[in-house]
Amino acid sequence: MKSWTSRPVPELPGTLPQLRLYDTALGRVVDIERQPEQSMYVCGITPYDATHMGHAASYVAFDLLNRAWRDAGVRVSYVQNVTDIDDPLLERATATGVDWRELAQSQIELFQTDMDALNVLAPNHYIGAVEAIPDIVPAIEQLIADGVAYRVAGSEGDPDGDVYYDVQTAGKRSDATDAWTLGDVSGLGEKEMLELFAERGGDPSRAGKRHALDPLLWRVAREGEPSWPGATLGDGRPGWHIECTVIAQKYLPAPFTVQGGGSDLVFPHHEMGAGHAYSLSGVPLARHYSHAGMVGLDGEKMSKSKGNLVLVSKLRAAGEEPAAIRLAILAHHYRSDWSWTEAEFAEAKERLKQWRQALDHAPAGSAASVIAAMRNELANDLNAPGAIAVVDHWAEEATSSGADSSAQDAALVSDAIDALLGVEV
Ligand code: ZN
Repeated sequence: MKSWTSRPVPELPGTLPQLRLYDTALGRVVDIERQPEQSMYVCGITPYDATHMGHAASYVAFDLLNRAWRDAGVRVSYVQNVTDIDDPLLERATATGVDWRELAQSQIELFQTDMDALNVLAPNHYIGAVEAIPDIVPAIEQLIADGVAYRVAGSEGDPDGDVYYDVQTAGKRSDATDAWTLGDVSGLGEKEMLELFAERGGDPSRAGKRHALDPLLWRVAREGEPSWPGATLGDGRPGWHIECTVIAQKYLPAPFTVQGGGSDLVFPHHEMGAGHAYSLSGVPLARHYSHAGMVGLDGEKMSKSKGNLVLVSKLRAAGEEPAAIRLAILAHHYRSDWSWTEAEFAEAKERLKQWRQALDHAPAGSAASVIAAMRNELANDLNAPGAIAVVDHWAEEATSSGADSSAQDAALVSDAIDALLGVEV
């Protein structure tokens, strides 16, 4: 599927120091191994609703990582999927009387326009679930042949043949130290897993499953639902976790460097994806798992059912500058849970104004230390608020110093804000 187009990233003199990132599976900040090419998979949207601030914050977070790697002089291979067929999409299409394909298409376009506006660098491969089905089917067939997936008999209106992943058998498969067992990524106990599984699209009480936590791999065709050829599986459509796993394995090295997403993807999505990948290839899916916090509105959880979604597209339509939206997001550390507020958005707009004014008074020789300090903050688990504080401090001094301004330093600081934070000043 076509992706959006990245804006050019200015090159800065020097390079980012050793990057450290919080690894969810390990529960601590780790050094990211230096390699000539880094690779990242960030789970994409299910295109049934516009990009809200939670999505935006998550993609901006991993955009910081992308930019940090580039600044360190390495190539970045970045893959993102779009779940262009899944239950929520079909449910929304039915509820609104829109064809599911049209709904998906329109929301994918809106998402890409939002990402472009927010200056999020585009993935190298942007892959839809539907276009990945020919790769997903043989993977599921292999899991069945290997005894880690099974078909469930029909009951209570469900037809025969839905395929599930056997988490217990898969978890006992290997003695290797990097082998996957349930809980390796999330670190959760079974009780918490069961709660989250039910909350986040799982079907713990589906009759005929071997274990309540076994996730769906293939849903055979139902009356009135779209389906695709599934070879020996029968016509149907794929589950969400196997979708991401197969796309990541096709387009990225094994293991790739960082699996990213919002913290609501830790379980079951990233947990199960890690299991699927190990079962398919015998090597871990990713070296590191990284997750962005959740965004609320005025202290409440942002959700469709509460009707309190803050949409990037609505802010844009109201004439708000995307760079200010991005700066408001970056004022919070990517791992923290936070709330969007008008007051903080106003602060971000004011900050952007002050930075722009300060560029007219950039003291000669001031840029090098600003760039070094911003890099130190970002290398330390993508501490964007720290990098913002560096620029704030510089801007205050620049505005109050009364010294002769240096066009060269102004250009360097402006480039650093753009290259490292993705904010065009
Ligand atoms: Zn995913």
